Amino acid sequence: MEHVIILGGGIAGTTAAEDIRKGNASVEITIIEQEHHPLYSRVLLPHYVKGKIPREKVFMKTWEWYAAQRIEIMAGVRVDAIDIQNRFVTTSEGRELPFDVLILAGGGELNVIGGEPRGTSYLRGIDDADELIGLLKETGMRHADDRRGVVYGGGFIALEYMNIFHHFGVSCDVVMRGSGFWSSVLSAHSQSVLARKAVDGGIVLHTNEPEPTILGDREVTGVRLASGAEIPCSILGIGIGMHPDRSFYRDCDIEINHGIVANEYLETPHPSVYAIGDGAEFLDGNVGRRVVYGNWMNAQSQGRAVAKTILGDRQPFALVSSYATQLLGMHIVFIGDVDRVAAHEIKQGTATETASVEEFYRNGTIVGAILIGDISSRATITARIASNSKTV
Ligand SMILES: Cc1cc2nc3c(=O)[nH]c(=O)nc-3n(C[C@H](O)[C@H](O)[C@H](O)COP(=O)(O)OP(=O)(O)OC[C@H]3O[C@@H](n4cnc5c(N)ncnc54)[C@H](O)[C@@H]3O)c2cc1C
Repeated sequence: MEHVIILGGGIAGTTAAEDIRKGNASVEITIIEQEHHPLYSRVLLPHYVKGKIPREKVFMKTWEWYAAQRIEIMAGVRVDAIDIQNRFVTTSEGRELPFDVLILAGGGELNVIGGEPRGTSYLRGIDDADELIGLLKETGMRHADDRRGVVYGGGFIALEYMNIFHHFGVSCDVVMRGSGFWSSVLSAHSQSVLARKAVDGGIVLHTNEPEPTILGDREVTGVRLASGAEIPCSILGIGIGMHPDRSFYRDCDIEINHGIVANEYLETPHPSVYAIGDGAEFLDGNVGRRVVYGNWMNAQSQGRAVAKTILGDRQPFALVSSYATQLLGMHIVFIGDVDRVAAHEIKQGTATETASVEEFYRNGTIVGAILIGDISSRATITARIASNSKTV
């Protein structure tokens, strides 16, 4: 092994680089990252926007760190093409870089809606967070009637916008495509617990709405719903999920489904080509099928695991990962595989006005859970899922 190329300098790719360097002092390691920043924590972005931590604390690495590790970081550069047969990548600068090992750690692509006048916000990276802070400051300087936000979406990032608007006293209308929060994942009861929390916190919900029309020419002035009703706002936060960059990977002859297809070792069918993090669909031995997880713990751990494999300690990747968040202080945890379609059975546990616990089973074995309002069983459920590896 002479040259490892890593597409994507997020937590998955950077962790892989760091751990490979720890085990091999001489291999050449290059990270190609289209953003212009050293590694930072996406998880901390909402805290930074709320002013709870300073900007510099969001960063996890400095440029000096890469130099000290002898990890080349090509920031602001895209991988435009991968020649998987002849084993080289082509960058946006037109360079062709040969690889012995290629790690695909590119995450996912944001779902966007058409028309993006100023005031439209997507919270994916630190540039988005900086822009949102600017928008919130402007809102604060204007008349109280102007302090209106609209959120489009009902998942993790949409929740962050709700928390942020609530924190700054910006009124908040939420437009959702489905019947409520995570409508394709949660039971009606779980959705109602979250809806009650939101409404009690002053949030106005508009459910079963198709994509709203953004109003405003250069600046957002509001959104129009399918009914014709208009909701004025000066900030529109959009959080409608991610999708894999299918056309890019297919063009490169890399198999892609809900993510880049990999086995339990995070190996693609191509020799020494691996897929890790949010962009990987790997065979999870704990749940018995190929899954994509979009959480920090999974991405970081897969970076570690792939480094081990590359350094010669090849083990199947097995981790029960989770995504913990909150809505106006109400705790929410998604653990393991919570796909309603793939589940054989979903058992409703705790079901009160302020809490809901759902357990997902396949072949009689627990593979995932969603805890809302009462997360006391998080550790036990995680351990139960971890212990059933190979039986599902
Ligand atoms: C605002 C926010 C809050 C979050 N909060 C939580 C939380 O509380 N808990 C939790 O578990 N998870 C949270 N997440 C999710 C978590 O951050 C992700 O799961 C994690 O960052 C995934 O890491 P990754 O390295 O796989 O992908 P990414 O962080 O997406 O990194 C992939 C990188 O690849 C680069 N890239 C892609 N294609 C190319 C290309 N062709 N050429 C060059 N570079 C390319 C991208 O620019 C990107 O920087 C949050 C995410 C966001 C955005």
